[in-house]
Amino acid sequence: SKSSYFCSLKLFRMNDENTRENEGTKIPVSFIEQIIIDDLKEGRNKGRIHTRFPPEPNGYLHIGHAKAICLDFGMAEKYGGKCNLRFDDTNPVKEEIEYIDSIREDIHWLGFDWEDREYFASDHFGKLYDFAIDLINRGLAYVDDQPSDLIAQQKGSPTQPGIESPFRNRPPDENLDLFRRMNEGEFDEGSRVLRAKIDMKNPNMHMRDPIIYRIIKAPHHRTGNKWKVYPMYDFAHGQCDFFEGITHSLCTLEFEVHRPLYDWFTDKLMTSSYRPRQIEFNRLNLTYTVLSKRKLLELVREGKVRGWDDPRMPTLCGLRRRGYTPEAIKKFIEMIGYTKFEAINDISLLEHAVREDLNTRAPRVFGVLKPLKVIITNYPEEKTEEVSIINNPEDENMGSRNIPFSRELYIERDDFMEDPPNKFFRLAPGREVRLKGAFIIKCESYRKNETTSIIEEVYCTYDPDTRSGANNSQKKVKGTLHWVSVRHAIDAEVRIYDRLFNHEDPTGQKDDYHKFLNSDSLQIFKGCKLEPSLRSARPLDRFQFQRLGYFCVDYDSSEDNPVFNQTVSLRDSWSKMRK
Ligand code: ATP
Ligand code: MG
Repeated sequence: SKSSYFCSLKLFRMNDENTRENEGTKIPVSFIEQIIIDDLKEGRNKGRIHTRFPPEPNGYLHIGHAKAICLDFGMAEKYGGKCNLRFDDTNPVKEEIEYIDSIREDIHWLGFDWEDREYFASDHFGKLYDFAIDLINRGLAYVDDQPSDLIAQQKGSPTQPGIESPFRNRPPDENLDLFRRMNEGEFDEGSRVLRAKIDMKNPNMHMRDPIIYRIIKAPHHRTGNKWKVYPMYDFAHGQCDFFEGITHSLCTLEFEVHRPLYDWFTDKLMTSSYRPRQIEFNRLNLTYTVLSKRKLLELVREGKVRGWDDPRMPTLCGLRRRGYTPEAIKKFIEMIGYTKFEAINDISLLEHAVREDLNTRAPRVFGVLKPLKVIITNYPEEKTEEVSIINNPEDENMGSRNIPFSRELYIERDDFMEDPPNKFFRLAPGREVRLKGAFIIKCESYRKNETTSIIEEVYCTYDPDTRSGANNSQKKVKGTLHWVSVRHAIDAEVRIYDRLFNHEDPTGQKDDYHKFLNSDSLQIFKGCKLEPSLRSARPLDRFQFQRLGYFCVDYDSSEDNPVFNQTVSLRDSWSKMRK
């Protein structure tokens, strides 16, 4: 058939070069991709590749989830397969519609689509319940009347076998009757559970008669009050994979110890040779970052950040608001790859990927964060002239724009020093600098406020023969400054971010992670001065403010009060600006 021809064509290419390109060097495909290649070659699952991304709708997606998404959707896309979106909504107490909407939006933003295959674990509740009944009938599940703490105690430890429950050998009829009544709401939450009857002495603790159903009396966002018993994750996940025809169920390493249970359930369900296969990879951990939905929710609830989409958050909506691009995130994930070993990745690598990406796509503009007024005393008062500036030297298709130059300009306060050291190549009394795209100016004098000692104005002269681009502009100076014309400037608020945590591994310490919150992670600059072309910028538009970093228009921005977020600095500008 056409599709298998297509497939074998792809296979041929893959066998030729089981490598992927990364910044010019070839690196081998991940072990997971190799398994997929081998499965296709051997014709397993009739050549089908079907994955799923299974978020629990109890929080917003973070960059760790992006790693899973890129694999689940990426492998399906690359090998002509499909990827389902499946909301793991087995716990009605913690789940909210708000999270479901945000998850859809974030996956689409990354550039992936599940077409019509959006599922909920709750879509399968009926089949899961029937399967539980089936296990009861086959003597493979029983109702335990003990409280959960006692059940936990009886589980033993990895070196000590567990103790069998006194209810373990209940006859199927009695179990059936009790389980039905559990679901009818007759019993209190926590008073009874349904357990799989496997092996209390199994070296794997997960195999020691795991709980598979518990009573929860809260209404469910999709099934309302229909169910009073809800399946545990372990009882739902593999079965949902099975019901949806998933071939490769990719998840993080902590599920490795759950795999025997995953296989035990699907074995009991199996009616044909098809079976989903769980494969685990290392989760993403980032330095200076917390990646746990529970902790991120705490930060939001406690007001440590301004919401799930605070630009300091590692959530996808936070990174988006910060100005990160999906391309940069995907590039970063490609660079770190997928392995079987837990690791912690350096956040500066992610920042590197963001800079690389924005370097080629963000237009470069002039913005002054801490303005200092410069008056060019030999420039006519009423005059304005336009100077032409290239938008991005990395991409000539981005063209150029004109910006107005006039007698009064703002420069960066840090670009002037009264009494500078020799190596200071910026403006100082008697020294010359070039105003980027315009003229060379020389500082003649300055005025200081006598009570505050703050420098208020700097007086310069300009040389009209030094205009940039003009044939006779041979004169060279060491420093080039960005600037904005006072009369034409737009006032803006600029938010500068530092890491949310000041410890590399804030959750791996004896102390609670709150102790490592960086109290200086947000600095707000008001009265920043931007070139007038930025008046038309819209939320999420990205720019390089020359010499300062990459910036992105915030959602709070308006024509009257433009607001920009710093996405990432240009390497060392952060330390420079904090002084
Ligand atoms: P958290 O630990 O942040 O609460 P979770 O694992 O409970 O996350 P789920 O919604 O259950 O979140 O995750 C959906 C999928 O995303 C799972 O397959 C999970 O393995 C994967 N995932 C979650 N966190 C990471 C991470 N840091 N790196 C890679 N994959 C992740
Ligand atoms: Mg989870």
